[in-house]
Amino acid sequence: MESCDMISDNMKYSQIGRDGEEMTLDTPVTELSGVGEVRGKKLEKLGIATVGDLLTAYPRDYEDRREIYTIEGAPLGQRVCISAVAAEHPRTSYIRKGMELVQIKAVDGSAAIHVTFFNQKYAQWALRAGEEYIFCGTVEQQGRRRTMANPIFERVGQQTFTGCIVPIYHLTAGISNQMMSVLTHTASQGCEGELSETLPPQILEKYELMGRDEASHSVHFPADFDEMERARHRLSFEELFYLSVGLSHLKERREQEGGLPFVRHPSEEFFGLLPFEPTGAQRRVAEEVAVDLSSGIPMNRLVQGDVGSGKTVIAAFAGWLAVKNGCQAALMAPTEVLAEQHFRSLSTLLAPVGVRVGLLSGGMTPKEKKEMHRKLAAGEIDFVVGTHALIAKKVEFARLALVVTDEQHRFGVGQRAALSAKSEAGGIGAPHVLVMSATPIPRTLALIIYGDLEVSVIDEIPPGRTPIETYVVGESKRERMYEFVRKQVAAGRQVYMVCPAVEEQEEGGDTPPLDLKAVKVYAQQLQKEIFPDLQLDVLYGKMKPKQKEQIMTEFTSGRTQVLVSTTVIEVGVDVPNASLMVIENADRFGLSQLHQLRGRVGRGVHQSFCVLVTATRNPETMGRLKTLASTTDGFKISEEDLKARGPGDFFGSRQHGLPQLRVADLVGDMRTLSQAQEAARALMEDDPRLKKAENAPILNQVRKIFADTPDIFN
Ligand code: ADP
Ligand code: MG
Repeated sequence: MESCDMISDNMKYSQIGRDGEEMTLDTPVTELSGVGEVRGKKLEKLGIATVGDLLTAYPRDYEDRREIYTIEGAPLGQRVCISAVAAEHPRTSYIRKGMELVQIKAVDGSAAIHVTFFNQKYAQWALRAGEEYIFCGTVEQQGRRRTMANPIFERVGQQTFTGCIVPIYHLTAGISNQMMSVLTHTASQGCEGELSETLPPQILEKYELMGRDEASHSVHFPADFDEMERARHRLSFEELFYLSVGLSHLKERREQEGGLPFVRHPSEEFFGLLPFEPTGAQRRVAEEVAVDLSSGIPMNRLVQGDVGSGKTVIAAFAGWLAVKNGCQAALMAPTEVLAEQHFRSLSTLLAPVGVRVGLLSGGMTPKEKKEMHRKLAAGEIDFVVGTHALIAKKVEFARLALVVTDEQHRFGVGQRAALSAKSEAGGIGAPHVLVMSATPIPRTLALIIYGDLEVSVIDEIPPGRTPIETYVVGESKRERMYEFVRKQVAAGRQVYMVCPAVEEQEEGGDTPPLDLKAVKVYAQQLQKEIFPDLQLDVLYGKMKPKQKEQIMTEFTSGRTQVLVSTTVIEVGVDVPNASLMVIENADRFGLSQLHQLRGRVGRGVHQSFCVLVTATRNPETMGRLKTLASTTDGFKISEEDLKARGPGDFFGSRQHGLPQLRVADLVGDMRTLSQAQEAARALMEDDPRLKKAENAPILNQVRKIFADTPDIFN
């Protein structure tokens, strides 16, 4: 089918480029001939509205069509290019209503080939007897005849898409690869020489980078793979360079603002409040935090630690120190469930020493919220825990000096900034920021994503925990899995059972496989048929916050024995008595997410288990699940995950709030990354605030790239 479109697209688009009209980067794609309103809409889906967008819609891959075969020598059954002369005029016949067949015989010195086109009337007048063409398609042998159906073809000497390396693009329904190729080719030709250089000349020279104009052509239509590599290297470099510069700029700006220097208090005073002995790693990280907080420069620190490593202790410590200094602290959690849990544990820990802990969540009544707003503004709450509700406009603080965000990759850079702004409004200046991430992020990626943060790692798990045993099981072991659940409950433990979706069918989505465990239906079935005697409950995201809180309280208290849930319990929930995590349709989850889910058990003294249930027969998927079963090292797992899915998926759609990277490959492209960072560092050392006139274009470019997160540069 694909090749059917190709020839017609080819012909239509060859007329692009209206006489006398200058094409610029801002020219709307709909002004190109062949692109009407309908196609315009489809291109928009790919993020393409202008000619400039076309040029930055970089190929995701390439196909090497350089080799030209003879008819006789062409391998069968795969796409190849052959060069042949049309031996006759094309013949058109009508097979049946609505089905038109164009046929032509073509020859080279070696043999003849019968080329056919279905419903491709263009071929009839585009092919001329006696002319030589490159045909690109699949050669088949039918009896003694060689044939090729629906090839793309171009006159020899006028080739763009045959006999060369051709780009392969991200597509959407109604936009074929050939169409994209023709459009980018038109854009590239039309804007030749128009693209001004965006990198300073000394950087181009030092790193031997291709010029921007050349690179943006070559990335689509490289003469060879070396040229393609150099073009991609140049474009990745540019992305990573501006990203690094932007992040350093951000950091620099923060440091200039000055942060409130906290007076240090003996950490032992805080540690004494804990019901356990802090680990060495917790002590070390607490010390790093204390040093930051007393430095006079606003802290901006990321605490990375695997699930269960005890990050909350660090948040509590920082908050405690802020309150000791007469300031307010805020802890922002990504879910209501987690905010409430933090509220409970911080209250237990800090209320006895007079810290007034408060909760602000979306689930509170307007009246309750209003009262909490009043208390925060009046300074009657010292340490507030909340969800996104904390960054609402109405929320004002008397003396906010510390902002902690938990499970950071769910918050964008912008949201972090919004909360920080509340402190500046309070006249204290930039607040100290502590970010806690439970998804250990590979170093390569941390460098970029957290480029503006200092990083602490809690690389030690509190003692006395036995490693979680993980099993991957197929449907045939379902009964045994149920028995195991029963056994755990009989021993006084609690069990999570997680499923991927809430409704039997996700709204607007494709029909999920029939066996997909939908949480409500599944829970009902379990209660009725499998565990009529057990205390079962259901938890999912769309529930009212009050209801969720109620359910979590029941589970935490131990009254609920089995909690059937969606991934809302993925993040941070802490119930030490839970010892078994069953994950249905485990193949539907990413590795890091599975690791997070698994981390909900093994938090107490009991031997804990994780059972991954899957019906998959895909060896690759099985391999991934087995990786998870064989290690509990979160860093190793996220690295695997990143390899399998790429950074885009890893973080969900742009959740990190940073500019989207179009070409840079954070996993494979370490050399480009380190060069770009080195260049950025050198620049920032020379001109930390980008104030020099000669660096104005760089600042402009950075602003442009961070346009989607304007709060960064306001
Ligand atoms: P995470 O890093 O996943 O956020 P938490 O802070 O929720 O981990 O801690 C997990 C559990 O371990 C909690 O029940 C907490 O009370 C406990 N914990 C934290 N630090 C220690 C420690 N040093 N010794 C024993 N238990 C600890
Ligand atoms: Mg946590």
